[in-house]
Amino acid sequence: MSNEQEVITVINAPVYLKYNFTAGAAPSRFLTQIKKGVLTGQRCPKCAGVYVPPRGSCAACGVPTEDEVVLSDKATVQSFTIVSIPIPNNPIQPPFVIANLVPDGASVSFIHLLSECVNEDIHIGQRVQAVWKPKAEWDYAMDNIRYFKPIDEPDVPVAKIGKLPVTGWEG
Ligand SMILES: [Zn+2]
Repeated sequence: MSNEQEVITVINAPVYLKYNFTAGAAPSRFLTQIKKGVLTGQRCPKCAGVYVPPRGSCAACGVPTEDEVVLSDKATVQSFTIVSIPIPNNPIQPPFVIANLVPDGASVSFIHLLSECVNEDIHIGQRVQAVWKPKAEWDYAMDNIRYFKPIDEPDVPVAKIGKLPVTGWEG
């Protein structure tokens, strides 16, 4: 072996995985509703927590969730990050904001984009609302919502995030 052999520290090894996803009963109901422009969750019969998207059971109580709950498309920022590094094959160019958002009426957050905002002004407790794609483009997909944008409503205190009724935040 030659002493001049270089140490290889990086190789380019792209991996592509194409697969079909079987949604299951609870996510199927969620996807059927979001195709109509409606966000839905499921309420736990034991702790009353509302999951979105629903998985069909409560992770805390271990019981099935079957009570369907219509949620608002208004939400509160629970946490966020400003992405400054480009993601390969992602058409969205940095900097952009990804946030954990809790829709009104739900107990848990989902991840979505924030836009139409000054990134540096985004903060926990901020009120946002969905910006939907044109109805003709709606499919069985969360990206029927293009992104969420800030709205002119008072911030939600951290202790109240995930505890708002579907009717929203009165301040
Ligand atoms: Zn529960």
